[in-house]
Amino acid sequence: MELKSAIANKFKTDNDLSYTTDEIIVTTGAKHALYTVFQVLLNEGDEVIIPAPYWVSYPEQVKLAGAKPVIVNAHEQNNFKITPEQLKQAVTKRTKAVIINSPNNPTGMIYDKRELEQIGDVCLKHDIMIISDEIYEKLIYSRDTHLSTAQISDELKQQTVIINGVSKSHAMTGWRIGYAAGNEKIIKAMGNLISHATSNPTSIAQYAALSAYESDQDPVINMRQVFSERLETLYKRLADIPGISCIKPKGAFYLFPNVREAVRMNGFQHADEWAGTLLEEEKVALVPGSAFGSPENVRLSYTVSAEALEEAAKRIKRFVINHQ
Ligand code: PLP
Repeated sequence: MELKSAIANKFKTDNDLSYTTDEIIVTTGAKHALYTVFQVLLNEGDEVIIPAPYWVSYPEQVKLAGAKPVIVNAHEQNNFKITPEQLKQAVTKRTKAVIINSPNNPTGMIYDKRELEQIGDVCLKHDIMIISDEIYEKLIYSRDTHLSTAQISDELKQQTVIINGVSKSHAMTGWRIGYAAGNEKIIKAMGNLISHATSNPTSIAQYAALSAYESDQDPVINMRQVFSERLETLYKRLADIPGISCIKPKGAFYLFPNVREAVRMNGFQHADEWAGTLLEEEKVALVPGSAFGSPENVRLSYTVSAEALEEAAKRIKRFVINHQ
């Protein structure tokens, strides 16, 4: 209860959103909140619209709930964001929910107020739930501000389930504390399921998360500053590599460059093969974009030191040039 109250305070202070503790549930990481919300919301044959590039677990979790992931390609020309028209076109009678992940993993893109309002309108019109994964809320490096569909109107707040946690904001991934906030009925159903699955997240970890929220938040701000500097460094280095182009991310801690040209120049069939050989030859680990539904891209994470990033960029460049 103390942690739920701290989370309610966080919503009030950071997002100007009022949730009672009955509208909040603490879970074993944000992943568990997502898994549970899909289990309680979805029935066999229901459809969930997932904009691609997407976080790897969304389609699998939707399938685990017996429902069907409907992938909508957010185009790179549109900064990897889906348009309301694309959303409308994907809606059928079986559409139950859409997943909005802003700031996004893997692209780092952020939906603005107008975009969220338009997406929200489509969802209200067709009675579609919004699962709003806001786990990277604290990691924004541009002038953009984080906004949730729940902040747009009371109606949309009722139709949105926010997913968040301390894994990214407070670098507490291993502690496994996440949460969901939304309509009391949905939260209660999630609680019923969790009571038979895990009972509760470890109490010690709950106290650690409580302490994270109640302590001075300067370390969160400092961490963001360090990530911002690393992003600048790696982004510049990537721009200097032939055949690689990259939209500058605005948040999260990934770069998602398009490597189509480099793959072609280097004589590989696809980015998976290119990334696999890069790993073997240069010992640089990237995640091929096919895992995120975007096969022309690769994902780099900049959570490691600036020195390691400089070295990685040097090796990627050497690899691309040597294979020409
Ligand atoms: N949502 C997104 C978009 C993520 O990138 C991740 C972790 O990588 C999660 C959820 C899961 O976070 P947690 O570690 O709290 O389960």
